This record gives sequence, C-alpha cells and structure tokens, in this order.
Amino acid sequence: MTQIRRRGGALAILWILATAAVAGAAPLPGEADSARVEALLAQMSLEEKVGQLVQMSNPDDATGPVTARADRTRALRTGAVGSVLNVVGAAETRRYQELALQSRLHIPLLFAQDVIHGYKTGFPIPLAEAASWDLEAIRQAERVAATEAAAAGVHWTFAPMLDIARDPRWGRVMEGAGEDPYLGARIAAARVAGFQGSGLGALDAVMACAKHFAGYGAAIGGRDYNSVDMSLRQLWETYLPPFKAAAEAGAATFMNSFNDLNGVPASANAYLVNEILKGRWNFQGIVVSDWGSIGEMVTHGYAADNREAARAAINAGNDMDMESGAYGEHLAQLVRDGEVPVARLDDAVRRILRMKFRLGLFDDPFRYSDVERERRVLNNPAHALVARNIARESIVLLKNEGPLLPLSPKLRTIAFIGPLVKAKQDNLGGWAMEAPGFDYSQLIVSQWEGLQQRLGPATRLLYAQGSDIDSASTRGFAEAVAVAKRADLVILSVGESRDMSGEAKSRSNLHLPGVQEELIKAVQATGKPVVVLINAGRPLVFEWTAEHVPAILYTWWLGSEAGHAIADVLSGDYNPSGKLPMSFPRSEGQIPVYYNHFNSGRPAVDEPGHGYQSSYIDLPFRPRYAFGHGLSYTSFRYEHLQLDRHQLRGEEQLIASFELTNTGPRAGSEAVQLYLRDPVASLVRPVQELKDFQKITLQPGESHTVQFVIDRDKLSFYDARLQWVAEPGEFEIQIGPASDEIRLRDQFLLQ
Ligand code: BGC
Repeated sequence: MTQIRRRGGALAILWILATAAVAGAAPLPGEADSARVEALLAQMSLEEKVGQLVQMSNPDDATGPVTARADRTRALRTGAVGSVLNVVGAAETRRYQELALQSRLHIPLLFAQDVIHGYKTGFPIPLAEAASWDLEAIRQAERVAATEAAAAGVHWTFAPMLDIARDPRWGRVMEGAGEDPYLGARIAAARVAGFQGSGLGALDAVMACAKHFAGYGAAIGGRDYNSVDMSLRQLWETYLPPFKAAAEAGAATFMNSFNDLNGVPASANAYLVNEILKGRWNFQGIVVSDWGSIGEMVTHGYAADNREAARAAINAGNDMDMESGAYGEHLAQLVRDGEVPVARLDDAVRRILRMKFRLGLFDDPFRYSDVERERRVLNNPAHALVARNIARESIVLLKNEGPLLPLSPKLRTIAFIGPLVKAKQDNLGGWAMEAPGFDYSQLIVSQWEGLQQRLGPATRLLYAQGSDIDSASTRGFAEAVAVAKRADLVILSVGESRDMSGEAKSRSNLHLPGVQEELIKAVQATGKPVVVLINAGRPLVFEWTAEHVPAILYTWWLGSEAGHAIADVLSGDYNPSGKLPMSFPRSEGQIPVYYNHFNSGRPAVDEPGHGYQSSYIDLPFRPRYAFGHGLSYTSFRYEHLQLDRHQLRGEEQLIASFELTNTGPRAGSEAVQLYLRDPVASLVRPVQELKDFQKITLQPGESHTVQFVIDRDKLSFYDARLQWVAEPGEFEIQIGPASDEIRLRDQFLLQ
C-alpha cells in the first residue's frame, strides 16, 4: 500500500482573500436542484443506480489492495462506476470523464483524492498544523490545497482526518489534530471551511470528507485497523466532537472506518451512521466506506460473504462502496430480493447526484479539467508563502536553555549535522501528494538550503551526515564529532523518515530510530552548544536528549517550505509560537497519556513509588512535555484575572478577562488556553478540559486584555443517559500557556 505518492505572510493572505471574493461573486452553476435529481433518478435502471454507488481506484496508483476487475474501461463506459479515486491532473481526469460520458445517461464521475496536506505545494502534516493553534492559517492552507487540487481535476478530498488520538504508537496520529476534542473540533471546522471555500460549485472548492467515522484512533495497542472498545460516554465526549463540528460546518461527505466499534464494524454501524450522523445530526451528504472496508467485514467475522456485507453496509446508511466490489456485485440482486429497500438505494443515489449537480458537473463535466488553468494555478508563487507561514507556526520550541536560540549573529561557524539536514522528500511526511509534472527535488527547500540562504556568506556552515535515520552503523560519528569541534555551535537534525508514520505504520518503539540519540550524545560530548531539531510524524521518546541537550525544536514534517520555515525560527526572523496538540510520553510504557484524565481516588503524585497512589514506581506519571506546551523567544505575563460575575443562571454568560503582557525583548505570539473543571458531578469529570483559546501577537512591552466567554454549553457534558447537561455547582477556571502551567485560577457557581 503506498501512502506516499511518488508521482510525479501578508501578501499570501491578501491573495487568498482576493480569490475567495472573486469565486464568491460568481453565480454558482448547478446549484442543488432537486427537480433535476428526481428527473434523472426516474430514468435510471437498477444497475445504473448501483453504478453511482461504486467507487473504483486507478489501479496504477493505488492506496490500498486493488480489487480485480474484468474490464475497467467497460465499467466506466456503461455507468457501472460513479466515482474514481487516485486519478489526478486536468488531462487524465478529462480522459476518464470522457469514458463515463459515453454511458447511456451521461452521468459524470466524481474524482476523489487524498489531498491530506497540500496538492502540489506541500504543507505541514496535519498534526504539525494543529500545533500552530492558528485556525485562520489552517483554513488558508486548505484553501490553497483545494485551489490547486480543484485545478487538477479533483472534486473531492478524503480529508480532514478527525480521529482523536491518544496513542502515538498509531502511525496515523500524523494525519489528525492530536488528543483533544475541543481543539480537534475547532480545527475540523476550519479545515472544512478551507476545503469548501465559498461553496461547492466554485472552481476553487473541493468536497471535504470527515473521516474516519468513528473511533479509529482508539485502536487497541495503537495497532492500525485494530478493534475499538469504548463506552458510549467516551465515544460522545472524546471521539465524536470533531465529527459533529465537521457536520455543522457543512462537510459534504463522511467516510467510515476500518475498525469495529464495540463489536460492530463501522462500515455497517447503524448506530453511528443512521442514528447519529444521518439522524441526530441530519447529515444530507454522502457517506463513503473506507478502502475495501465493506468486503473486510467478512474477515472481521461480521458477514458471511460479500453479499451479506453489502446488505449490512447499505442498510446501516453507507452510501458508496470504495473498492470492495461488494455493491457492484450484489446490490442490484439484494434490491430485487427485497433485502435492501428501493427507498434506501434511491436515497443513496440522490445524495451522490445532488453533489454532482452542486459541483456543476451536469452543466460542464470538464469544468475542473482545464489544462491551462491547472498550469496557471499550480505555478502561483503566493502558495509557497502560505505554506511557509503555517510551517513556521507549526514548529514547537520544547526547550531553550541559555537561551541558545535564536542563533546569535556573532556565530562564525555552525555545524549542521544529521541524516535529515539535506533530505528533500522526507520533509513532506506521509500522505503527501507529488503532483505529476513537477520536480520535487527542486521544489522542496531542504533544511540545509534554507539555513544557508538565511545565514549568507558571513557564517560558515559545515556539514556531516553523522548517521542514517535507521541503521546500527556509527561509522559517521567520527566525522560528525570532528566537524562539531570546528564549530561554535552545532545543530543536529534527526527523527523519523517520512514512511515511518502514516497508515499501517504503527510502531512499538518510539525512541529516535537507529543510533541517532547516540549521535547526539557523541556530539554533545564535544562540549559545544547543541540545538536538536526533531522531525517526525508523531510524538517520539527522547529522554536523554530532553535531559541533556539545551535547545530542542520539534519540527514534525513541514512540507515543501520546511527549510525556510526552520531557518526563520532558528534565526529569530520568526519567534516560535507552536504548542503541542498531544502529550509527549517519557516512555512507551506511559501510553496512553493525555492531559484530560480523571483524578481517580488515589491521584498520581510526582515522585515515583510514593505510597498507594495511581503512579508508576519507576517513572514520573507526568508526560515529558504536556499538551499545550511550547516556548517562545519572549516571555508573557498573565495577571489580573477577573470574572464579571461569580454566579451563573440559565442561559447567562460569564466573561473571564485577564491581562497578557509581552515582558520580553521580542514581538511574539502566544496561544493562551482556557481550561475548565467540574469538580463534583453525577459522573466523574476530567481534571481539566480545554474550552477555549486565542492566539495573540504582542510587541515587546505591549499588553492586551483577553476575554473568554463562558456559556452553558462550555459547562455541559454527556451524562449517564448521554444527555448534554450542565449540572449546577461549582466550576473552576484555569488559564495559562500550557495544560501543566496554569497561571490564573478562579471559581464560579452555576445555579
Ligand atoms: C485510508 C483512507 C483513504 C483511503 C483512500 C484508506 O486506506 O484509510 O484514509 O482515504 O485509503 O486512499
């Protein structure tokens, strides 16, 4: 399975706003027209209806195990396929569309693609973008991704991935927004808004797909595709909020998931799809299966064969079958045999046709497949600026003793050492597209190139690879040490390779791979000041480095502008502002470790082995770096917390305000975080829960009054009957720069 496709600031913000305005002004062709949908539906044979529910992959660029098919071209020409994935490019999509238009009713295809973090321009992996806590920057990143993808013939992206993940062994943590349901929900809405822009039908919009519905991130043991077993309270409280937010933001489609949830595979989970998504949330869009997941219900042991699997999936509310072939083979007969109601089939077909009308495909099936427009849009230099902006905002400064960073302009010689210094494609991370026709070795700015350009000739930059990413060889150490000795300061760039995280990339050992931590020790032993950059798709374990190295930047995978973004932060041109969207464990043994845990009857204490407490005897219970942690080159003072009232009734709101001051020497941005705690309730509540945040930029010495509005909704939770309730009693407010660094506290009463 290939998840890595090998195919071939201010200015940017103005550009984005300008294009959004133009797209919004034009009348959108093919607005949903139920009369046209009904007229078409009335002409369709049973087989043609089933065809609309079949999604087929391009076998030459597959992202999963391809189902054998006798004649793909014939299937396209006879209307046996409604959507195709993994076909991109204006010319290629046009070619496929021409085949589909030869079918009796000339119904156009939907082209779907995993545009997860950029189409041609490479953006940071989604987990890194989440570390920016900048919803507007995230929206803009998806705007660019959608603009480029739509110009290359894509109608539908299989993103955003909204799975909450508390287990970094799971390789797909890279695709999501981390561990927190509130941050995850806000980011979900921003991503949907970014992809869908001014609305479906605009030439720079693609359909978003909220995936994987649901619970996929809670795979037991962090093993991809594994079972999920959780209480419904946990499901509603932790795993569903981002999906609810995506539905409310108007996501056009949802994808279900590979896992079973409490024994029922998500692909046929009527509780999830019929009851929650289409019922309570009134979702009117398309629900697609995950790759082959309908057929896999046979292997799960939930269906005897593909026929049973198809019946279970469609009756549970799944509209489209991605690649399993079960619908194509069996659905028509199931309807004839009365095992699937015609009304259910028609409902699924309507949902798909409606989107095709909205996208304007019945007015012009080729409107997204214009080679000239594709060339122009994909070469827009403003896109790289948007990518650079969010890339530098995604970097998290974990530690900065000295302070060693930003680099002093007095440094004459810097050694830049490590297996990732000159890497190119690795900077893209997993699930990256490489648009056909572009030379990515030119397009991606390596870390070496970025820093060299920034420092100019006055600073000598020395290089040694030091080690591989993942081998046992220490052959390069001697050269690395020799190079370090010649320098005033050393920067080490280490981490995972891009294919170590992503789908089917679960790992049991999260330490820096190979001998990289040994390399850090060898270089540190020279006595030179050392800065470490860690590039990875997940939280890694690096205890020795965290203890001994004075400065650490977590750089994730930052995309095609990685080198520029890293140079911006190292040099101080950009003051780092990222905050961790996931807790970083001290060892794999702490997993799952997350900030919004319950207190227990014997709360953990800091010193290991202390009495009869909920602790480890060999390790502190706290993570190495907590959710929300991230430093800056300046410092911020939090003071004067005021609540405009200390008692709340009914629908009243409370305003909490405090003063934030930049007390350091540089301008900087701070993501201030509001946590709440409900100390006594009918169900035990977490010790803290993120309920709001703001990212604020201040000049040196500048102060700003920050206000948070607390309403009943923020005080509510799912009770034992899964009702969304706010229970009267005391609540605690916590405000600070990280979940483990609460600077201001107060209480109030809900009556
Ligand atoms: C993944 C999905 C993806 C699909 C199509 C599956 O293996 O789980 O996230 O959208 O493939 O590539």
